[in-house]
Amino acid sequence: MPNYNPHIDKVLQMLRDMYPGVKPSLNFSNPYEILVATILSAQSTDKQVNKVTPAVFRDFPTVYDMANTTPEILYPYVKSCGFKSKANNLVMAARKIVEQFGGEVPRTHEELMTLSGVGLKTADVVLSHAFGVPAIAVDTHVFRVSNRLKIADANTVEKTREQLMENIPMEEWSSMHLKIIHHGRELCKARNPLCSSCALQDICPHYFKNKGEN
Ligand code: SF4
Repeated sequence: MPNYNPHIDKVLQMLRDMYPGVKPSLNFSNPYEILVATILSAQSTDKQVNKVTPAVFRDFPTVYDMANTTPEILYPYVKSCGFKSKANNLVMAARKIVEQFGGEVPRTHEELMTLSGVGLKTADVVLSHAFGVPAIAVDTHVFRVSNRLKIADANTVEKTREQLMENIPMEEWSSMHLKIIHHGRELCKARNPLCSSCALQDICPHYFKNKGEN
């Protein structure tokens, strides 16, 4: 049972009202594809990832195809999403899934985090999107928005994640994570949050602290 806090309760209710039915922005149709897309999304944008994944999924449609290729062959496909290490991580992760997990994307944090390129955030996204496991992946948007709105009050990703898990009902972890990301992309932007267009303005501690600047 989450800790009851009237401010947090109000913010969560408003986010529910503002963003009903928000869906993941990465395109995928199975656990292998969301794993690939999420590894590619590190330090890139979901929009950019969605541009490259159709060709990746066409030419490497299964984890076995990915395991059988090489980072050198894969790299031109994913180059626009950043570092060469991502091609390496994708191939190494696929090989481990084939060799140690029977070709199935694992379903626990512990196992997922043994794969190349998979940290806590990626594991949370895969578990949540692929398997419906309640999880709150704290990316840059979730970290910023949660702390601005004071539904978390922490200076690290780990503490923010812990507090959000305490403050949000478990059955809403995954959906609220999507709503918070959406709010961060649409309105609560990193540099110039669009506070004058934001329905949360009246209860936003960050707005009151910086009144007049946004
Ligand atoms: S009022 Fe501004 S800072 Fe607060 S949540 Fe809305 S956009 Fe973000």
